[in-house]
Amino acid sequence: MIRDSADAVVVGGGVVGCSIAYHLARRGAKVVLVERDTLGSQSTGRCAGGVRRQFSSAANVVMQQLSVQLLAGLEAETGVDPEFRHIGYLFVLTSDSQVADFRGMLPMWHETGVTDARWLEPREVRELAPLVQGDDILGGTFCPSDGIASPHAVTLAYSGAARKLGVRLLEGVEVEGIGHDGARVHSVRTTAGEISTSAVFNCAGAWASRIGAMAGIDVPVEPYPRNIFVTDAMPEVSRRHPMTIDFATSFYFHPEGDGLLFGMGMRDEKPSYSTDVDWGVLDAMAEVIDRRAPRLGTAGIQTAWAGLYEMTPDHQPILGPVDGLAGFWCACGFSGHGFQQAPAVGYLLAQWFSGEQPQIPLDIFAHRRFATGKVEPETNVV
Ligand SMILES: Cc1cc2nc3c(=O)[nH]c(=O)nc-3n(C[C@H](O)[C@H](O)[C@H](O)COP(=O)(O)OP(=O)(O)OC[C@H]3O[C@@H](n4cnc5c(N)ncnc54)[C@H](O)[C@@H]3O)c2cc1C
Repeated sequence: MIRDSADAVVVGGGVVGCSIAYHLARRGAKVVLVERDTLGSQSTGRCAGGVRRQFSSAANVVMQQLSVQLLAGLEAETGVDPEFRHIGYLFVLTSDSQVADFRGMLPMWHETGVTDARWLEPREVRELAPLVQGDDILGGTFCPSDGIASPHAVTLAYSGAARKLGVRLLEGVEVEGIGHDGARVHSVRTTAGEISTSAVFNCAGAWASRIGAMAGIDVPVEPYPRNIFVTDAMPEVSRRHPMTIDFATSFYFHPEGDGLLFGMGMRDEKPSYSTDVDWGVLDAMAEVIDRRAPRLGTAGIQTAWAGLYEMTPDHQPILGPVDGLAGFWCACGFSGHGFQQAPAVGYLLAQWFSGEQPQIPLDIFAHRRFATGKVEPETNVV
């Protein structure tokens, strides 16, 4: 049984919890991380690894700039290579409104430092991404310095470095309750005993609403299953083929091993905690694949898995302390972008926790936005 105390307890050992635990410890905090399964085994270990800066909300672009910077220095900092392959990110656009929206975002991307993002004419889209087809393509945006990194490597980097700084990483231990007196947090109850603490970080991914409920806080995060398929070897496709997103349908693919990894959100998806592979999704995708990347449709499937998106109503994460219960912090609701946001989120929340002003304003991500209605939805959601 644990009889312990900590400056902060991190609930959840995905990439977000590991990044936060590391950054808090780096600033001298005594931290315990509690993971009911194994580190990185849930959404983190099932994600597509995409790292991009082409968001609609300037706050996300700025945050991603910081994440990319931190990923660039991660090996020097922790000894683990995040395997960031800069194959670029391509959004394929097929309607006038998408063209207007993305053309409108380009100046904002450039102003916030994403200077290599550029507009592509339909011919350039096809040249850059030879698998892509369709007379309906009206253009695209491309950022060559975006790409794919390894969720396992980044989680290992942060968890290993956290451990070296003295963080206790408890695996196979579940958080069952948050102790508080109505005004502030005083403890966390786990299956291995109680930990005294005045701060809890809710990094429970798709299960974040359950941790919120333990503290009497409504955390509006819903789980949505997403499937990933990986094709058999496709040696004819360059391993430098960009991560490509058909924005209208959210169908995306990128090179993975010797094949291609692909997936797509479904229009009629419903919240669920199921992570069984839904092979019916392949049938539903067939028409889109035939139209947009027909060669992909001719390949066999090597493997598939499913994981959970953790969606908020405005598709923005919930970051920082919540009003009404001192010591209850959120870092959840990443709505499908949490892998790439984890480095910056850990860094910024540790700054905040240490009493500093986070170097990037996090106001639009505050939990209170759901009460005030002051929301700025992210629209570039895949
Ligand atoms: C198919 C798919 C593709 C994706 N592609 C991308 C992508 O390309 N780029 C990107 O940035 N993001 C992507 N994402 C999203 C990304 O995976 C998540 O946003 C990110 O992993 C969230 O990390 P996390 O640490 O918050 O959550 P998780 O990795 O899910 O970690 C939360 C942890 O909390 C633990 N937990 C829950 N309840 C308790 C409890 N009571 N006690 C103790 N532990 C508990 C869970 O076991 C889990 O390990 C994708 C997700 C999916 C499913």
